Amino acid sequence: MYQIEIINTGAEIMMGFTLNTHHQWLAMKLLDLGYTIARQVSVPDEGKAIRSAVSEAMDRSDLVIVTGGLGPTSDDKTRDEISELLNRQLIYSQEVESHIRNCFSIRKRPMPESVLIQAWAPEDSEIIMNHHGTAPGLWIDTLVNEKNKSLVLLPGPPRELYPMFVDQVAPMIRAKLPLQSGAKLHLFNVVGLGESQIQERLEKGSLKPWIDKGLELGYCAGRGEVTVRLMATGGSANEIVDSASAEVRQKLGHTIFSESGESLESVVIQRLRSMKSSLAVAESCTGGFLGHRLTNVPGASEVFWGGFLVYSNAAKSKLAGVSPKTLDQFGAVSRETAIELAQGVKAAANADYAISITGIAGPGGGSTEKPVGLVYIGLATPDGVSVLERINTYDRETFKLITTQQALDLLRASISK
Ligand code: ATP
Repeated sequence: MYQIEIINTGAEIMMGFTLNTHHQWLAMKLLDLGYTIARQVSVPDEGKAIRSAVSEAMDRSDLVIVTGGLGPTSDDKTRDEISELLNRQLIYSQEVESHIRNCFSIRKRPMPESVLIQAWAPEDSEIIMNHHGTAPGLWIDTLVNEKNKSLVLLPGPPRELYPMFVDQVAPMIRAKLPLQSGAKLHLFNVVGLGESQIQERLEKGSLKPWIDKGLELGYCAGRGEVTVRLMATGGSANEIVDSASAEVRQKLGHTIFSESGESLESVVIQRLRSMKSSLAVAESCTGGFLGHRLTNVPGASEVFWGGFLVYSNAAKSKLAGVSPKTLDQFGAVSRETAIELAQGVKAAANADYAISITGIAGPGGGSTEKPVGLVYIGLATPDGVSVLERINTYDRETFKLITTQQALDLLRASISK
């Protein structure tokens, strides 16, 4: 296997203004190609920091990818630092100059002469033209301690970096670092089970032979869901991951909601679309967050009628038709109110399915009988109404996320049967 490192440059990353998404994006793209990253560092766009990070990485690795700092401003130092580090003089490219001039003339903008600094590149670099900006990427092959090494410099803006990597750099990596056998990855998105419950189910018994053969099993707990990662490298990578995946499907069953990285709301919307069924919601303590998540999914309008935001008792009665007697006798946070809310909005929308949510987000408002975090989620279907009771003791934002996750999963279970 090749040793690959990524260096992300930029003061804004070090100060926390910009989240380093390049690392994640490049690591995933490289994994798709069958390569894994051995090390990643972020450094400020400062001469000494760039130079020492690149020099150390070049000593260790076969391929070093550097992002950022190729622009025309004084804080864009990567090009100059690399030319000094490798002891290669900068050579001017007429081709890049024409490209830069063309970029400005197409947009009918005056071109500051300073941008032509981007036409300089260390001697013997392969220039990777930037079809979405002016700064070219650069591929530099060199010898370090008599070993072949490659250094790739890529522009920082994602809209320039992403297409340049996919269309031009990925084929170069494949050609220059050919793989005998790559890495295989498969992800499962799981809801309704905690990380350790999943681990118990998977690592006991039948997955063990695959782990012994080199299967790497990883867990990443998000809020309200867990991603299970299966990975293997080498000649039997496909066989190991495919066989282990079949085992995982059997062990985790219905708790797996996606194997292609979709969100839970997207899975639910797609299923409703395929059933040509409609959905309405009545939300109290989640304040419209369920509707927000559903409407994040393209195509939601085909199935999502909308809903009522029924925070007060008055709204619960006036909009969703909850009887004041029910509210009086059982309270707003009760199984009975959840049922009437779900039935009320289902009827108002003439929908096939309806979800209701009523609970105590906290931090105040709880009692011994009804503690903070208590929530009732109602689900009305063509066959009747059911209610899920949960105690979600989190901060208000996490409460909304976890509760809507439970609501979506309740519906998913009902429509996936
Ligand atoms: P420019 O011509 O814009 O100067 P550049 O190649 O010099 O391009 P940078 O200046 O380092 O690149 O970054 C440009 C912008 O790209 C940053 O302001 C930031 O918005 C984004 N960016 C850079 N690096 C990253 C990163 N690691 N993760 C996410 N975004 C990034």
